[in-house]
Amino acid sequence: MNTHPPLSNIQTRDVEALLHPYTPLHKLRENGPTVIERGKGVYVYDTRGKEYIEGMSGLWCAGLGFGEEELVEAATEQMRTLPYYHLFGGKGMEPAIELAEKLKEIAPVPISKVFFTSSGSEANDTQVKLAWYMNNALGRPKKKKIISRQKAYHGVTIMSASLTGLPYNHMGWDLPVDRVLHTDCPHYYRFGQDGESEAEFTARIVKSLSDLIEREGPDTIAAMIAEPVMGAGGVIVPPAGYYAAVKEVLDAHDIILIDDEVINGFGRTGEWWGCQSLGMTPTTISAAKQMTAAYAPLGAVMVPEDIYQAYVDHSAKIGTFGHGFTYGGHPLGCALGVKAIEIYQRRDIIGHVRKLAPVFAARMDRVAQHPLVGEARYCGLMGGVELVADKATKRPFDPKSGVGPQVARILEGHGAILRAIGDTIALCPPMVITEAELTELFDRLEKGLADAE
Ligand code: PLP
Repeated sequence: MNTHPPLSNIQTRDVEALLHPYTPLHKLRENGPTVIERGKGVYVYDTRGKEYIEGMSGLWCAGLGFGEEELVEAATEQMRTLPYYHLFGGKGMEPAIELAEKLKEIAPVPISKVFFTSSGSEANDTQVKLAWYMNNALGRPKKKKIISRQKAYHGVTIMSASLTGLPYNHMGWDLPVDRVLHTDCPHYYRFGQDGESEAEFTARIVKSLSDLIEREGPDTIAAMIAEPVMGAGGVIVPPAGYYAAVKEVLDAHDIILIDDEVINGFGRTGEWWGCQSLGMTPTTISAAKQMTAAYAPLGAVMVPEDIYQAYVDHSAKIGTFGHGFTYGGHPLGCALGVKAIEIYQRRDIIGHVRKLAPVFAARMDRVAQHPLVGEARYCGLMGGVELVADKATKRPFDPKSGVGPQVARILEGHGAILRAIGDTIALCPPMVITEAELTELFDRLEKGLADAE
């Protein structure tokens, strides 16, 4: 269904010049790109002047919305003082130091050191390299495999994409996945068996994790990586007790738990970190996105003291710690990170998320009643609305039917930008959204669903 008028001049320039990420390339010209010109608060405006509520915070990242003057000022000041510097070879600069100190202060577990990257993918790539480096340092050269999960999303660099458990990140890309193992996705609605309770489902998939480790050999497995709430796999909230049981299995085999907080972190789930909402105890942490409120790219890896000491000992033996990105810890990103965290604290953004979460939940529960909706799941201010062909049997639509993207386009017509992940419509509005704006977003979602029926 084409809901767009003929391409405007700027849309034509767009399709002539850009290779778009995560886009069905063969349909781009037919559908027409939505070219966004400006944003203010939770709203963005396209080049035709149409207003949208940005119900996804861009890509789960613009948590303070658009046009936030305090961030603009912090960025301008940093650009004037020191527009670029780096941390290679023992150089330092205050924005990176200050942000690392802040991260240590708010971290969910004791953290010794912060390593900066430019993105979430680079953070997770770094996590894997660090796990390998650590096990080489500890004299365990065989302990290198990484466990991830079906439907996980950890990024697009070669290793992060290998960790990702989504078909379109693997099909056609020839990834070297031999050191990566994928275990069950903790999604009860979709993968729970007939007559199985949620607790039984949890016990079954944790047993399957344990069996996988035994089969492969615990001495070959370095780490498991997990997003507390799985985001780009369709906003999947694991059952209560899942992470505690997973951690017990990992601890028994000396396998570290890498917590991917790239989407969950900085208030999204109603706590600073998703792991705190989901009862997960991480060993190391990846962060990005809302760390700078998305006003500049930045990622981070946080590690505890014992692991850091292993790097130091290894460096003493083999020389320079040979890893780092030109823009890792860019002063602009770090200055914005410091300011964003200060705003989260001063304006009590997490308190605001907690206050709005029941309103969000109530509207999601109402959306769940719609005949096209199989499940509407949520945590804090993130949610996923899974569309199904048959509500009673949970039968999904034919994957080729493209129902999710079609509904997302209808929603855009109603002025709501939401993201189709297969047939799940994801919601992740800026955390500063007001109750009235949230109500308007859901009204637009419900109008779109009514049109789609
Ligand atoms: N990890 C998670 C959980 C993500 O959701 C994403 C991106 O959406 C990434 C990692 C990759 O981050 P980036 O796109 O900044 O490389």
